[in-house]
Amino acid sequence: GATIGILGGGQLGRMLSVAASRLGFKTHIFEPGANPPAGHVADQVTTASYEDEAALRGFADTVDVITFEFENIPASALDILETIRPVLPARNALATSQDRIVEKQFLTDLGLDVAPFANVETPDDLNAAIETVGVPSILKTRRFGYDGKGQSRLKSADQAARAWAELGNTPCVLEGFVDFSHEVSVIGARSQSGEVVCYDPGENVHRDGILHTTTLPAKLNVSQRMDAVILTGKILNALEYVGVMGVELFVTPQGLLVNEIAPRVHNSGHWTQNGCAIDQFEQHIRAVAGWPLGDGQRHSNVVMTNLIGDEVLNVSELSKDASVGLHLYGKSEPKAGRKMGHVNKISPKS
Ligand code: ATP
Ligand code: MG
Ligand code: MG
Repeated sequence: GATIGILGGGQLGRMLSVAASRLGFKTHIFEPGANPPAGHVADQVTTASYEDEAALRGFADTVDVITFEFENIPASALDILETIRPVLPARNALATSQDRIVEKQFLTDLGLDVAPFANVETPDDLNAAIETVGVPSILKTRRFGYDGKGQSRLKSADQAARAWAELGNTPCVLEGFVDFSHEVSVIGARSQSGEVVCYDPGENVHRDGILHTTTLPAKLNVSQRMDAVILTGKILNALEYVGVMGVELFVTPQGLLVNEIAPRVHNSGHWTQNGCAIDQFEQHIRAVAGWPLGDGQRHSNVVMTNLIGDEVLNVSELSKDASVGLHLYGKSEPKAGRKMGHVNKISPKS
């Protein structure tokens, strides 16, 4: 059978591996860190750095297609991998989502709404950006931010120097603070033949910058729900995307604003494991393997709750609830802020 290569051995890589195995594929994980969560379920693991050309070549030679669980793959590694095997989703999606300015420009060019933003590469740029974007606002590093890391909030213009110092003199974007009522996300998928399937939007609550819960159904009226799905399809088609993508949205009285896109399976899509016949992980593997997409219809209401750090120690208590699907990542140390697992509490569909 065919082998799916996965860059990244975290929990997303692990759940992709499980889905691939279920479909009869073998999986090969490429991961620089030792003892990755995906290593326990994959058929093969290469432990090497993205600078190691021989290791990248060796990995690519053993697989039929390459996909990934995270968007910060170095361009130099892609240069090597792409010449050997197809990498899906393709490079344009990575380039677009790796840099918040490129991402916002892409979304704006598509006619979608984003928060007011300005590029910031110097302290002078920041002062100019505060003039155009205003306060309150959020300074974010253009690259490598996740779980709210690499962000500094400005309540007033005199906090500019502090915010700039905090982020360590790296290229940033200043974003106007959006007064949203709530946050939702759409998990969308596009196949190699251009078929698009979107899951029902979920409503997301963050705690300390990390996703806490995703609730289905989200509070959205019919037209908002339609908008969310249509704009996701627009993004997928514009990128000629292949695979699953997460699209994070702010709900405001003026309409939906796109916060960011993630070119991969997404934490806010974990509810699909217990809420749909075909979950986001299987959907992603189907897409990158060149298969038709599965049915993404939701059959239940779901509340997905992340188990962060010590919260995973409640597992024996949580396991007593028969309507809870447990998903544990097999990580040994429950460090603060570390995603250890998640639970999907299901109830009849409303
Ligand atoms: P992720 O882990 O989702 O990749 P991230 O580190 O890339 O997160 P963002 O999604 O940009 O960060 O921001 C994290 C959270 O901070 C958002 O989900 C939202 O709650 C809040 N936030 C971000 N940007 C804004 C904004 N412009 N206005 C208001 N709140 C915001
Ligand atoms: Mg992000
Ligand atoms: Mg986000």
